[in-house]
Amino acid sequence: MRWCWWLRWRRLGRLLWTPLVVCAVALAGLEAASPRENIFGLADVPALSQALAGKLILIDPGHGGPDPGITINGLHEKTLVLQISFRLKGLLQKAGFRVLMTRESDKDLSEAEAGTKLGKRKNNDLQVRAEMPKKVGADIFLSVHINGIGSSRWDGTQVFFHPDGNPGGRVFAKVLQEELLKVSHSKRLDRPAELNQLILHYAPCPAATAELGFLSNPTERRLLQDPVYQAKLAWGLYSGIVRFMLESSQDGK
Ligand SMILES: [Zn+2]
Repeated sequence: MRWCWWLRWRRLGRLLWTPLVVCAVALAGLEAASPRENIFGLADVPALSQALAGKLILIDPGHGGPDPGITINGLHEKTLVLQISFRLKGLLQKAGFRVLMTRESDKDLSEAEAGTKLGKRKNNDLQVRAEMPKKVGADIFLSVHINGIGSSRWDGTQVFFHPDGNPGGRVFAKVLQEELLKVSHSKRLDRPAELNQLILHYAPCPAATAELGFLSNPTERRLLQDPVYQAKLAWGLYSGIVRFMLESSQDGK
């Protein structure tokens, strides 16, 4: 029923808008930004200070094309991460960031010929993704994924960084994890972890991989398909990026 959705959005807007936006506004030194009705409407995202506007954020929705990522009950990781990445892109653009995505449709990035075995194709896909931050001159690289394991027991968001990658990655992952915890339904994981991942190692800028929950957990599987929960996750990622950029610029990094 339409009115039920309306009430739900209004309630979530009230819950999330005030603390998150006040925080973002205070940190950003924003000009004449004032909270409006709905955090999920792009019109409500305030413009950033000049120091941050124009920075290039590269979002990497994981998998795509013949590689669906985690698949449970016909639901593909590649589909959900693309939806959430588009929401994040909208928030960032509205705030004044430049944003690129490694993919904007259901395809992988492999340059391998048609008919190449999937394993080889995936390796090539990862290589292309890994080279993209340097190629486009990204200031931040964020890879977006969703977890899944054999047990339905585990849930929660978790962010990863490469121990030998760009030094900013460790702090970026920590800030992202903290901001995701504010919007995630699960508080099980409270700190980022190291991950020996090619795309994080190659990036010459601060880089992190965010796993936004577990498709193998029935509650989280339902939530991850919910547009309102997707918007909350996008907001958590957005807040993490803004906070990290502001704190880094203040530290003179
Ligand atoms: Zn994945």
